[in-house]
Parts: sequence; C-alpha cells; structure tokens
Amino acid sequence: MKSSLMRPATAAGMCLACAIACLGDRMPDRAPGVSWALAEGRTGLLSALRYELHLEVPDSLGERIRGRVTLRFALSDVTRPLVVDFAQRRESVLSVRAGAAPVAVNVVDEHIIIPASALREGENAIEIEFLAGNASLNRNREFLYSLFVPDRARSAFPCFDQPNLKARYSLSLEVPAAWQAVANGPLSSRQLEDDRAVYRFATTQPVSTYLFSFAAGEFQVISAERHGRVMNMYHRETDRLKVVRNAAAIFDLHATALNWLERYTGIEYPFEKFDFVLIPSFQYGGMEHPGAILYRASRLLLDESATQNDYLGRASLIAHETSHMWFGDLVTMEWFNDVWMKEVFANFMAAKIVNPSFPELDHELRFLLAHYPAAYEVDRTPGSHPIRQELDNLREAGTLYGAIIYRKAPIVMKQLELLIGEEVMREGLREYLAASAFGNASWADLIRVLDRRTEHDLEAWSRTWVEEAARPTVAAASRLREDGTLAALTLSQSDPEGRDRLWNQRFTVALGYGDSLRLMPVQLETASADLPDAEGLPAPDYVLPNGRGLGYGLFQLDAASLRYLLGRAPSLPDGLTRGVTWLSLWEAMLEGRVAASRLVDLALGALRSESDAQLTERLLAYLETAYWRYLTDSERRDRAAAMERVLWNRAQQASEPSLKAAYFNAFRSVALTENGVQRLQAIWRGDVELSGLELSERDHTRLAFELAVREVEGWEGILDQQAGRIENPDRGARFAFVRPALSADPGVRDRFFESLKDAASREHEPWVLEALRYLHHPLRASSAEKYILPSLELLVEIQATGDIFFPKNWLDATLDGHNSGSAAAVVRAFLDAHPDYPPRLRGKILQSADGLFRAARLLEPAR
Ligand SMILES: [Zn+2]
Repeated sequence: MKSSLMRPATAAGMCLACAIACLGDRMPDRAPGVSWALAEGRTGLLSALRYELHLEVPDSLGERIRGRVTLRFALSDVTRPLVVDFAQRRESVLSVRAGAAPVAVNVVDEHIIIPASALREGENAIEIEFLAGNASLNRNREFLYSLFVPDRARSAFPCFDQPNLKARYSLSLEVPAAWQAVANGPLSSRQLEDDRAVYRFATTQPVSTYLFSFAAGEFQVISAERHGRVMNMYHRETDRLKVVRNAAAIFDLHATALNWLERYTGIEYPFEKFDFVLIPSFQYGGMEHPGAILYRASRLLLDESATQNDYLGRASLIAHETSHMWFGDLVTMEWFNDVWMKEVFANFMAAKIVNPSFPELDHELRFLLAHYPAAYEVDRTPGSHPIRQELDNLREAGTLYGAIIYRKAPIVMKQLELLIGEEVMREGLREYLAASAFGNASWADLIRVLDRRTEHDLEAWSRTWVEEAARPTVAAASRLREDGTLAALTLSQSDPEGRDRLWNQRFTVALGYGDSLRLMPVQLETASADLPDAEGLPAPDYVLPNGRGLGYGLFQLDAASLRYLLGRAPSLPDGLTRGVTWLSLWEAMLEGRVAASRLVDLALGALRSESDAQLTERLLAYLETAYWRYLTDSERRDRAAAMERVLWNRAQQASEPSLKAAYFNAFRSVALTENGVQRLQAIWRGDVELSGLELSERDHTRLAFELAVREVEGWEGILDQQAGRIENPDRGARFAFVRPALSADPGVRDRFFESLKDAASREHEPWVLEALRYLHHPLRASSAEKYILPSLELLVEIQATGDIFFPKNWLDATLDGHNSGSAAAVVRAFLDAHPDYPPRLRGKILQSADGLFRAARLLEPAR
C-alpha cells in the first residue's frame, strides 16, 4: 500500500509557490538533487516501476562503465514532461529512446527531461544508454561495490531516486571472467565469453533505489546452510585461519537473528535469498541491501585478541542489518525525514536479539551511558531540534544525522514500548509491516496503528517526543509527617521553554536508604503525579527521581538528596544507580547548583573505588571537561597535582589494557605541574614505561603535541625528533599539517589559521580538527579568541565544501577550549548580527556554544 508523502509543515509556503509555478509552465520541479516537490509530483504519477539495467565493467579502472537501462512504468498523466534523475553531465547520456523512437537528449541540472510528446498513458518504456558515474561505485582494481544510500543511485544510472518509488530490478553485469558477482536477486545465469563473464540476476521484489546494490570482483565464497536456508558469504580475507575461526559464528548469528525476527514479526524472511559481502574498509559498519548485505570486513572477522565488546559489537551489527530486512527494506520510509525510524528499529530489535546472549554485561548501564550524555549534550541547548525534521531536498539528507537521531531516538522508542507494553508494540509492528509490505509508510502511519491499540493518546505523545525538541524538567518533592515518615511524594514536570508542553513518560523513582533502594514506577502523564506507595515510609536518605535511568529529562535532585549524594555517590550500591547519580550531579553542576570544584574532587575520589569500566570512562570524561572548562585557573592549579597522582596510580594499577589506556590518556590531557610534565617528557623519551601498556607511534605523537602546547624547553626539537620517528607517509603528512598550530610563535599560528580559509587546505578534515583543538587549547585560549569570529564567518562555506559531520565538528573544535565571557560574547554578537542565518547552522552554533555560555556564566562571579 502506498500513501502519499507527508508535507513538511514549514515548507508548505515554498511548495505552494512551486506548485503554482509548475501549473504555469507544466514543468515539474527540477532543481538539482531530488526536491520534495519533484518527488511528491512523481509519487502519484508513476506505478508498476521496473528497471532493466545492464552494466559493462571494463578491465581498466581508467575506463568508464557503460550502461543501458530500460525504465518501464505506467503513467497516469502525459500532459507534462517526465523528470528522470541522473547526476552526470550531458556527455554521459549517449542516447534516449521512448518505445522504439529516439528522443532528443535534454539534460538539465542533474536530470534527464523526457518531453511529454514522447510519453503515453499506461505502459511506457524509456531506454537510456549512458556512462555511469563512479562516485557511488567504489571501483578498485580487483573489485567494486555500489553504495547508493541516501540519494546516490542517481549518480550511477538514470532512475527515479526517491525511497517511495520502489521498483523491480533485472540486473545483468559484464565483468572480467575471474570475477564473482552478487546482487539483491538470485543469480539466474552466468555466461563466459573469452575473458569476460556476464552475470544475470533474477528480477527482484520491489525495493527502493537506495537499497538496490551489487558487488563484483575477486571474492572467495563460503556457503552454509542453517535451518534449511542456504547463505553465501563473499570475502577477500587472505588469512585462512581467521576465516575458519569466524565463519561458523557469523552464519549462526545471522540464522539466529533471522529466526528471531520471523517469530517477532510473524512474517517470513521477505526476500528471495540471503547473502552478505565482507568489504575491506567499508564506509559504515554495514548496509542493509536486501539479499546482499555489505559489511566492513573487520567488524565480522575478529582477531584472536577480540574483547567481549568486539563480540557484542559483531552480534549487534549482524542483528541490526538483519532487522533492516523487515524494518527499512520490506517497509520503507516515505521520505528521508523518517530515516531515523529504520535506524531506531534496527537498534531496538538488535538489542532484543543480542543482549540475552551476553548476560555478564550490565545492559541497562550500557544503554544509559551510550545514549543519555550525548543526547543531553544537544537537547539541553537552545540549538536542539526534533527527532523528525523537515527535508526539502534529498541532497540535504546528510544534515539530518546527529546525536538526536542516534542517541535520543532510541531512548524515545524505549519509552514508547514502556508506555504501551511489549505486546501492544509487537502486535502494532506486525500490523504495520503487513499492511505496507513491499511499500512505504511514515511515522504517522505507525502511530495511527499503535494508537488504536492503546488508551494513551499517542499522537499527543509523538508531538512532544518526536516532533518537538528539548526535554522536560522533572523534580521530586516530599512532605514529612511529624513522626518523620513520608506524608507525600510528588513528581512534577515543567517545560523549560515555558510552553506548558507535557512529556508523557514512565520511569522509576528510587528511594535510597543507606545501601538499599526502594523502587517505585511512575507514569508522569500530567504536570504532576503522587506516589501513593511512598506514604508512611520512613524518610529516605535521598530520592533519585530517575532511579533506573529510563526517564528522559533534566531530573533535578532536591536539596537534601543533592547534599547526601555529594558525599556518598561513589559508594552507592549498584552501577546503574551510580551512573544515574553521576548524570544527575553533572546536570546540577551545569545548572549552577554544585560547584565544579566540588564535583571534580568527588569524581576523583570515586575513581579509587569504581569497579565498572564503562562508568570509569564516563567519570574520566566528566573530569577532563570540568577540569579544563569549569574550574577557575587557580582551582585548576590547586588540583593538578592530585589529579595527576590519582590518574597515574590508576593507570599503573588497572588490570585491563583498555582501562589503563583510558587513565593514561586522561593523565596526558591534564598534566600541568612540573612533575607531571616531566613525566610526560620521560615517557615520550622512553625513559619511563607504563607496564602493560604498549604505546603506539600515534601515542608518542600526541605526547609530543601535548609537550609542545605546554611550551616545555626544547619543544621544537621534540617535534623535529617526533617527525623523524614517523615512517608512514600519510601519518607524516598529518604531523606536518598539525605542527604549525602548536607553535609557540603566535605569528606561525596566525598564518596557519589564515591558511584554513582555503577550502583545499581543509581537505583532510580529521587533520584540521586536530590542529584546531591545539590552536584553541585551554592553555592558549586567550590568544586564540581572535580566531572564533572568522571561524564562524566561514561556517556556511564549511558546510558547502565539507562532509556531513564537519560543520558541527568544526564548531566543537573551535569552541571547546574556551570558557571566558569575552569568547561567549563573540559568539553572541555573531548570532545577533545575523538574524537570518540558516536555521540548521544556527542550531549547530547554539549546540556547540552551550558549554562555553554556561562556563562563562558560572565562572563570572569567581573572576
Ligand atoms: Zn542501520
């Protein structure tokens, strides 16, 4: 079933204007990319879509791939031209035919325009010969693979590149004879002719363009059967033992996931066959092409030294991609504004499938630490955005990604299941999948299905949780009787923006009595809720409103609980309670209710007793941030020696190498005393070793940089020597690039910053970010303040020329080292001077500057 596209609300005005223009000249929108207006126009127009695609892959990488595609479809309106997406130049289109008749080639702004005169009502066949673009074909000497998500199919072949125009594909590939080939559909024939081979694949089920895929090259193939299903694994690993060691587990994990999903969804695996391809250095962990999943090889073929985390990561990745076969592939979002949905469901299912197999891990604490701090980092700022964002053109699909999609959405999905129950969730998902099988559905479609099965108002729920930014402020208040027992315990929520929004959610309040906890679930649907079970209980030592970490919001501790926890946080009985407590104390510090120095002292003491590795890493992250950003200079100097001592001792004592490394990295970052810096120097020289921790070349480079930014005597010689130690040319080039950002000569640093204004010098983005972080190191913050304004002025260009995550990373690297009122004023003045600044970029500035604004405010009275 196909429903029509949901119009992004605030784009309505623009689209209306466009619709009027379209009516005027009968010309569909053909702006570069795939605009929402173009996609919406084609949705109702085209049906029964099929692609017959033939590609000839030459032996030589220098030669382009020739292709021929026949687009077959039924058309309901032939009064206006048809726009086909193809992001190549005119020369790449060799011929166009409609039926048997040639059509003049007309290529405009990444589209081929088929004139109305060449179209007819009902069945049409448009044949196009072309030269494929290489951008999404990942061509190597010995293999290639396509990766079309989100809108890159159109760079390879002419198509209708939007997720809700699903099509059946008949693919044939001509490749060098020694190559294997795999695609979504089963192989139907392989024909050899001299040194060439032609692979023909059976016609697929209807799939979206971003899910259509093939890989070809020199691959080994291993087949295995599980529960009557044959699966093929394609790989290029030369270490035979490594393959043998891993293969059975990889097949087993896929089989387990498939069985689980068939049971959960009540729908048999929907596609014709199930193969997967292990690609060296694949861009992502995996990509869920139906029938031909692509994986990063190293995530599946594990080394002998792999940790429990690596095994969990592999199982989760396999379960994630397998879940997509139903969530994303069988039923696909209408438009990429709902891309978060398929990701969140794949993670949600993967956790259900995999977690029970790893009972020794604390999954609740893992979930808390992996999602909440990163989600809050954005959602507590005025630059936050809703989970569901509008998207006017698929070209901009990349700007949707970030912590809100990856970290907040999974929390919200958990909340939804808590609210309606596991059973209603499963039944609703079954209905949703069955109703839209091989079609598309939006978030609103799912909410409608679920809404019918529960007494809760899910549309209202969705409006605040999914369509709105930010989080509620939640607090607990208790009243005591004369005998000291509880008369009442009340939870209340408020809207930080004063708009009276209500976040309906379920969570568990913990009442702490020494070493024991009393847990009370609460459904906070309205502005406040009483906990009747609390009545008559002895007064607790503390109340942790978000006791089990399930709730989402700014959970405020009452004054007495805050006092108690500031003394006892490190000795609370279980990891999850400690985790929730630390998150709450951090928020209290950001709100100005706890001095950063107090929190630093407490966290530093906690490191001595903390037994959980995940929690230790979180504490180290908080410590480093608080130390550099939220302490005054004198507070920092006063604490440096103690910090160094504890971190160094813990690094010596830790038993696991990953924990040792975490302590050592923190030590390297904070070392300030003469002793500490001398120790850094001795380690860099090799005079002092940390037993059990092998330092890499990268570690030595970082040490050299930390020494240089501290301007130790002979820093220049240290950098010279370090440059000489680096043998790998790529790493050598990176070192040379970053180095001027560390110079003690401000003139050299100025010239380096000036050079970043040239886009060509920003080509290696990780290099730029590393250099910026040293340029704006807290020890040099005052001299670096002058770079903030020009960096903001570059932002629009940064977005135009950089990768999708670069603008936010650029801002973070620029602002993270600063905490002064004057630096904050620069950012505020910039925002004030540009009231019409692009909203998404403005949001990113407000996200990145939030810590700076808070620090400036908190430190002001102390200065
Ligand atoms: Zn995914």
